[in-house]
Amino acid sequence: MDASFFDILAKQFGSSQGALAQEYVVAHEYGHHIENILGVLGRAQQDPQGSASGSVRIELMADCFAGMWAQHASTTKDANGTTFIKPLTEKDVRDALSAASSVGDDRIQAKTQGQVTPETWTHGSSEARQRWFIQGMKAQTINDCNTFGVSDPETQTVTG
Ligand SMILES: [Zn+2]
Repeated sequence: MDASFFDILAKQFGSSQGALAQEYVVAHEYGHHIENILGVLGRAQQDPQGSASGSVRIELMADCFAGMWAQHASTTKDANGTTFIKPLTEKDVRDALSAASSVGDDRIQAKTQGQVTPETWTHGSSEARQRWFIQGMKAQTINDCNTFGVSDPETQTVTG
């Protein structure tokens, strides 16, 4: 992974540089690995653009998995009784949401092309990316991250 991406995220797109902001990015990418194992990753290529596209659903699912990771890494204890990362503070969560928000298609399009065109989205809006991360933090099972299970992942999340 190219660590200069974190600089670009912070300097060009206004993300926080907090630890959980960076960990969110790594967890999101690992989420794509899980999607590959689950056999759904290819749906991004089959339906690559638009606010309810396969691509956006795959990206929002990876955000949800990143939220699941953050929740579990901060509460699961190793053999010595120590959690993998320190318990999350409100600031940590704000940092992660700041990173998720900074890579929303609407935010990036407004900045780079001066207009927002949802029909060409590939990753989802700032709002949806934050919402699916939070969904992951609250998730009981991986099915709570099934972005293909709602008709509009831009405005809906899975309800248990
Ligand atoms: Zn991604």
